[in-house]
Amino acid sequence: MALLLLAAGLGVAVAWWVSGVFAAERGGQVVQRALQQAQTDASVLSGNISHRLAQAGALPGLLNQDHDIQTALGAVGPHVSPSTLEVAERAARWAAVPEWAAISQRLTEVVTTFNLNTAWVTNAAGDTLAEGHTADVRPFLGTNYADRDYFKAAQRGQLWHQFAVGRVTKLYALYFAAPVSWHGQFVGVVGTSVRLDSLAPLVSDSHVMVTDEHGVVVLSADPALQLRVLPNATVGALTEAQRVQRYQRHTFEPLALEKLAGDGPQALYQWPLDAPNPHVWVTRATLDGALQVHVLREVGDELAQLSQDRWSWFGLTCLAWFLLLGFVGVLSAYLVLSREQRQELLVLNGELQRQANTDVLTGGASRRHYLEVLHQEQERAQRYGLTFCVLSLDIDHFKHVNDTHGHAAGDAVLRHFAVVVQGLLRQSDVFGRVGGEEFSVLLPQTTGEGGWQMAQRIRAAVEASPSLWEDRLIPITVSVGGVQWLAGQLSTVDQVLAASDRALYQAKNQGRNRVVWAASATETWAVDHDSPTTRVT
Ligand code: GH3
Ligand code: MG
Ligand code: MG
Repeated sequence: MALLLLAAGLGVAVAWWVSGVFAAERGGQVVQRALQQAQTDASVLSGNISHRLAQAGALPGLLNQDHDIQTALGAVGPHVSPSTLEVAERAARWAAVPEWAAISQRLTEVVTTFNLNTAWVTNAAGDTLAEGHTADVRPFLGTNYADRDYFKAAQRGQLWHQFAVGRVTKLYALYFAAPVSWHGQFVGVVGTSVRLDSLAPLVSDSHVMVTDEHGVVVLSADPALQLRVLPNATVGALTEAQRVQRYQRHTFEPLALEKLAGDGPQALYQWPLDAPNPHVWVTRATLDGALQVHVLREVGDELAQLSQDRWSWFGLTCLAWFLLLGFVGVLSAYLVLSREQRQELLVLNGELQRQANTDVLTGGASRRHYLEVLHQEQERAQRYGLTFCVLSLDIDHFKHVNDTHGHAAGDAVLRHFAVVVQGLLRQSDVFGRVGGEEFSVLLPQTTGEGGWQMAQRIRAAVEASPSLWEDRLIPITVSVGGVQWLAGQLSTVDQVLAASDRALYQAKNQGRNRVVWAASATETWAVDHDSPTTRVT
């Protein structure tokens, strides 16, 4: 029982563990599917954005080789200072210069042709000398951009791109810039910009957003997310001035994006905070890391379903286990019971056998058992070339005992007779009751001489020991017929018994209380000469 309880407890623990492993495995698959989908979306989106920005990004690197721009800037020179005039005044002045007016005209064509937001040229001091723009952009001719990162990078001779909120335009845009050199010296910058809202059709899904390299959301289908920041944003590392210069603000609200569980790409996030299901989060860099595409894909109801499934699997496994244990329990109980019953039956059979083999009154072998033993002994003697003797005993005038002292006394005499005879026998000898007051004794491996002597001892002992019955001594005598079995002379048990019975008959005939020995082969008789009543010569 304790074993069954232990097995049940163990089974429950194993079922819980297995169902957990199973649920984790299925959960992993569900997350993996969402992750693959998100990765595909992110790759497609980053590819589309790169494609869309490729021309705008390449243009400054081409325009800075333009002969007209190079010569016009060369004429301004590398050591020019920022203009001290009002912006409007500067604009009017430079608009009136034919070379710059022509370049502005060409930049406007470039803007239209390549679907840009703006294109411009600044001198080495950062003042805008020529620009082209779309109709909805406010003119920015004359504006100084010396503080922009792209301008500083161009000063160092680098091509540059960055996100910024337009100082004049107030638009979210990506800026691409390249330095213009004249005779090996930095004379100005040529740049283009693309409005981020021109990428909006690519970012129509509310679970997709684009951040710049500082983790600030610059593009999202949800306008509320614009200029919010990722949990790991590095925008805080910028100085306040840098933030204002780039984003036109210095404080940023973080996105409602919280990690729920897991690590690495398999990590799950709460997004937004009241969403019922977790999300996976995949990030792809584009434009040399200037932009990051983020796809947050919902994992779906399957994950919530999994915990219910786990309980179902657990329940089913437990049920199956308990059924199995129940079956094993019933089976083993049945086996134990039937083994006990078999044992009892064996004991009972043994007892019955013993009773069947034993004479109740005298304790000697029953007639049937005695004959069985005799058969076995005859076969054994035959096989191994042995011999044995059989004695037939019959109490003399026993009827008289019954008649005189009563049947109960007769029984007592029979019991006493058995005790006397058995007291003389060896362990291997067999004493059997073959009739009412008739007995037979088997003497295995005993010669005729030995059998003869045993018969005489029995006769003498019975005569010498009367039985005591209710203060009365009842004397009895016994007549004995004996025979030795010899191979080839008396083959069957019946013949042996018949021979000893005939000898007994002779003893009775000759006056009782004597021993007559049958010389089996010749049917001649030897008689106990010591018998007190009859002597036969
Ligand atoms: P004999 O000397 O010729 O053997 O004479 P007998 O009287 O012994 O022989 P008989 O066969 O005439 O009588 C045997 C008697 O033994 C008859 C029967 O009532 C009695 N007897 C047989 N079995 C039992 C028994 O179990 N108990 C008692 N008390 N008497 C028995
Ligand atoms: Mg008799
Ligand atoms: Mg008798």
